[in-house]
Amino acid sequence: MKVYIKGVRMNKYDYLIVGSGLFGSVFAYEAKKKGYKCLVLEKRAHIGGNIYTEKRDNINIHIYGAHIFHTSDKNVWNYINQFADFNNYINSPVANFKGKLFNLPFNMNTFYQIWGEKASTPEKAKNVINSQKLIIDKPKNLEEQALSLIGNDVYELLIKGYTEKQWGRSAEDLPPDIIKRIPVRYKFDNNYFNDSYQGIPMGGYTQIIEKMLNNIDVELETDFNKNRSYYCSLAEKVVYTGTLDSYFDFCYGNLDYRSVRFEEKKLDISNFQGVAVMNFTEREIPYTRIIEHKHFEYNECPATWISYEYPVDYKITSEPYYPINDRTNMELYNRYLLLAKAENNLILGGRLAEYRYYDMDKTIASALKFWL
Ligand SMILES: Cc1cc2nc3c(=O)[nH]c(=O)nc-3n(C[C@H](O)[C@H](O)[C@H](O)COP(=O)(O)OP(=O)(O)OC[C@H]3O[C@@H](n4cnc5c(N)ncnc54)[C@H](O)[C@@H]3O)c2cc1C
Repeated sequence: MKVYIKGVRMNKYDYLIVGSGLFGSVFAYEAKKKGYKCLVLEKRAHIGGNIYTEKRDNINIHIYGAHIFHTSDKNVWNYINQFADFNNYINSPVANFKGKLFNLPFNMNTFYQIWGEKASTPEKAKNVINSQKLIIDKPKNLEEQALSLIGNDVYELLIKGYTEKQWGRSAEDLPPDIIKRIPVRYKFDNNYFNDSYQGIPMGGYTQIIEKMLNNIDVELETDFNKNRSYYCSLAEKVVYTGTLDSYFDFCYGNLDYRSVRFEEKKLDISNFQGVAVMNFTEREIPYTRIIEHKHFEYNECPATWISYEYPVDYKITSEPYYPINDRTNMELYNRYLLLAKAENNLILGGRLAEYRYYDMDKTIASALKFWL
C-alpha cells in the first residue's frame, strides 16, 4: 500500500474509491486483480473503517467496537481466510443486571439462572415463558412486543434497560418492529451466533485491510466531499462508501443515526471480567457493554485493555454507527438515492452509502457482487 497524506495525484485512475473500510478495500482488491487502477481516499488517519484494530501492550484493540466475524456463507469464509488466520473464538457474551450474571443468548443456562429448578428442563422453561407471555393482538410498542414474545422476567432483566439505552428512548415509545423475534434456545448453549463459521483474525483486522490495499494508492485524512469535483476528475468511476446525505451536501436534510462513544482504559491487572463482551442491562448504568479485548485472542499480557460503549445521540460531528431505518429516514434516503441514480459514474456501497446495517460477511458479499 502506498499511503499519501493529502498528496496530489496526477495519474488517471479507473476507480476512485471513497472510504478504506471493508467494502472499499474488497472492491479495490478485486479491481486491482482485474487490472484496474484505483485510488482510495480515506478521511480518517488510518485505513480499515470500523474494523480497524490497533495493537497496544500486545493486545489488539477493536477501536470501533467489538468485531466478531461470523457467517454461514462458505465462499465469504474462504475469502476472508486468505488474508488472515482465524482462531476458534466463539462469542458467548454475559449479561450483568445489578451484579447478577446471566448467559446470552437466551438459552437453558439463562433460564436456569433466572428461575432455578422451575426451568431445569426445556419443557419446564417453555412453560414458565408461556405463562408469562402477554396475549395481545397487535403490540403497539417495543415493550408490548417483547412481553408477547418472551414474558416479563426476561424482558425486565435482560431486554428493557439495554434497549432503552441503545435507542435513547423508553421502550413504550419505541416501535414494536425493532424486535421482530427474540431468539430463544432450549439448549444449554451459549454460542451467540447460529452461523457455521466464526472467529477472530489472529493479529487483528487491520492486517487484512493492509493486504487488500497492498500496492494500491491510498490517501489518508482526505475528505472527498470537501473537494469532490477535483477528485472525480481523477477517475473514470467513483465508488462511494460514505453517508449519502453528505455526498449531496444535505440538500434535503440530514439522515439520522445512533452513535456510540467508546472509552478505552488500560488496567494493570491481567483479567478484568473473564469474558470479551459483557452487556450491562440495567437502565441506570450509562454504558451498554464493556469489551475486554484480550479475550478475543489468547493473550498472556500482564495488563488488560477494556472499552466502555456509551450509546449517544448522533450529531453531524459524531460518527454515524447505526442507521435509524424508520419511515421518515427511509423516505429521505430514497430521495437521495434518486439523485445518486442520475449520476452515471457513481457506485454506492457499504453500510453508510446504503444506509443499512451490514455485518462484515454481508459487506464482503456485496462488494464481491461487482466482480464475481
Ligand atoms: C459498533 C459496531 C460493531 C460491529 N460489530 C460487528 C460484528 O461483531 N460482526 C460483524 O460481522 N459486523 C460488525 N459490525 C459491522 C461492520 O463494522 C461493518 O460490516 C463494516 O465495517 C462495514 O464496512 P464499510 O466499508 O461499509 O463501512 P466503514 O467501515 O464505515 O468504512 C467506511 C469508510 O469510509 C470513510 N469515509 C466516509 N466518508 C468519507 C469521505 N467523505 N471521504 C473519505 N472517506 C470517507 C470512513 O472514514 C470509513 O473509514 C459492527 C458495526 C458497528 C458499528
